Amino acid sequence: MSNYPKPPFKPQQQAVPGAQYRMDPQPDCGEKTYKGSGRLANKIALITGADSGIGRAVAIAFAREGADVAISYLDEHEDAKETARWVEAAGRQCVLLPGDLSRQPHCAAIVNDTVEAFGRIDILVNNAAFQMTHETLEEISDEEWVKTFDVNVTAMFRICKAALPHMAEGSSIINTSSVNSDAPNPTLLCYATTKGAIANFTAGLAQLLGKRGIRVNSVAPGPIWTPLIVSTMPEESVKNFGGNTPLGRPGQPVEVAPIYVLLASDEGSYISGERYGVTGGKPIL
Ligand code: NAD
Ligand code: MG
Repeated sequence: MSNYPKPPFKPQQQAVPGAQYRMDPQPDCGEKTYKGSGRLANKIALITGADSGIGRAVAIAFAREGADVAISYLDEHEDAKETARWVEAAGRQCVLLPGDLSRQPHCAAIVNDTVEAFGRIDILVNNAAFQMTHETLEEISDEEWVKTFDVNVTAMFRICKAALPHMAEGSSIINTSSVNSDAPNPTLLCYATTKGAIANFTAGLAQLLGKRGIRVNSVAPGPIWTPLIVSTMPEESVKNFGGNTPLGRPGQPVEVAPIYVLLASDEGSYISGERYGVTGGKPIL
């Protein structure tokens, strides 16, 4: 058994999008532990939301498996530089792509910049997301509803569409969904709705792209200790975070990364259209 942190956690609240370097305890993104074995040798990956949390763990794992990595993030420059430091320490190249994915031109720009730097895209990980906790429907503004869909769903469509001409047969797209995709938390109504859309989009797109030899899958994490949590959830939920899973604790980002490696790798060549749970024992059926 691991000795990863269990609740109760110290009270902590941050402004959106949150800074990983200010969290206590620090999330474990595999900085000191993830061991690669050449499973993604010389592949090119574009990962959104990879400054922190799950995206950082995926970036570190991909780099240690031999991939060069382009990292999109909103504006958390300190966190992004730390991710880049780990990618480069693995002997791989890293390109940093800050900016707001709710804007259509930025979705196209991150693809163009990745292709300019590396020539193609073999692995696309759509992982950036926005969420906010609300107790009532009336609290959710029209602007927030639209923004959540823009960041979580529409950006995914736009980035896939822009990236496709640069993705050859054998490439892989991985979208981050959530346990909320089929077990919605009512206080995350809008976010949970986008996560259901992502799981559905993934299953449809996998069928569209099958003939081109491109695989598409989604990952549905349970509670994972990341800046998203401390910047969007009330203090009481942060304190008890992950305590209601069978394992009795939140997952760490490093514990989610291995499934992304499998789905990105050539070993995953017959896996497409699926949704993989990483939930600490809470079933998704
Ligand atoms: P995180 O805060 O570390 O990562 C999310 C990233 O999205 C941020 O770092 C931010 O740079 C980026 N982002 C947000 N808004 C953006 C915008 N407008 N433009 C560009 N980038 C933007 O948190 P995380 O928990 O690692 O989240 C990664 C993914 O995992 C998300 O899709 C999230 O929904 C999903 N997820 C997380 C949990 C959890 O418990 N932490 C559970 C299920 C699913
Ligand atoms: Mg971040």
